[in-house]
Amino acid sequence: MTRYLFSEWDEIKKRLQKADRLLLLLDYDGTLAPIASIPQAARLPLENRRALRQLVKRPQCRVGVVSGRSLSETRDMVGVRGLILSGNHGLEIQGAGLRFSFPGGTVQKQLMNRLANALIPALKKLPGVWVEDKKFTLSIHYRLMPEKLTGQLRKLCGKTVRQTTRDADVCLCKGKKVLEIRPTNRWNKGLAISWIKAQIKPTLTLYVGDDVTDRDAFQALAPDDIAIRVGPSHATAAPYFLKNQAETNDLLGRLATL
Ligand SMILES: [Mg+2]
Repeated sequence: MTRYLFSEWDEIKKRLQKADRLLLLLDYDGTLAPIASIPQAARLPLENRRALRQLVKRPQCRVGVVSGRSLSETRDMVGVRGLILSGNHGLEIQGAGLRFSFPGGTVQKQLMNRLANALIPALKKLPGVWVEDKKFTLSIHYRLMPEKLTGQLRKLCGKTVRQTTRDADVCLCKGKKVLEIRPTNRWNKGLAISWIKAQIKPTLTLYVGDDVTDRDAFQALAPDDIAIRVGPSHATAAPYFLKNQAETNDLLGRLATL
């Protein structure tokens, strides 16, 4: 059962006030900033920048932004010093004395690029197939391909992956009319948050996020931490919810004046 955060604010407020080492983590797009038609237009509301600046000054408080964007883009969009920033779904973490870079991150991107370059010509003769390079993973879509060719597609993919990656750590998994190539050693927002928590050792963590990728983040929290989902997404289960992005602005204002 997900409860509306502001209905239980009095109790939450007491827990936040009592915490002597508080970690506040927020997603960017759809949480700190409204979703925009193009990513560059997703500006941080001024009131949120002001609230974040107040919160980072508190000695008992650590504040971070965890985004799917790159670290440098996240830093530019937020524009507040002293924050813990995590980009690329947790692959990079920097700020407030912390520094982490997923050991395989760059190698992973190069490997996926090499695989895409090998797969595109190898699969060219099969009709209705396209390869999507998602930088850290690849998708081979075949929903337009005749059913009888799927065996051939899987064989060709398997062979190309083996020839290109040799003993590298990737797996070829089947989805709905799609084959996914992923590094076996996956990193996500949840693992990034576990890493941050291990460094900070907070007595209470609050996380706010709106999307599927935030589900990993919610799962990284302890049962007595505070996980808040923004908006009506059914893909993410958190004990608390806010109705929309604008209510995150309200929450930040309340946190800044605790
Ligand atoms: Mg988001």
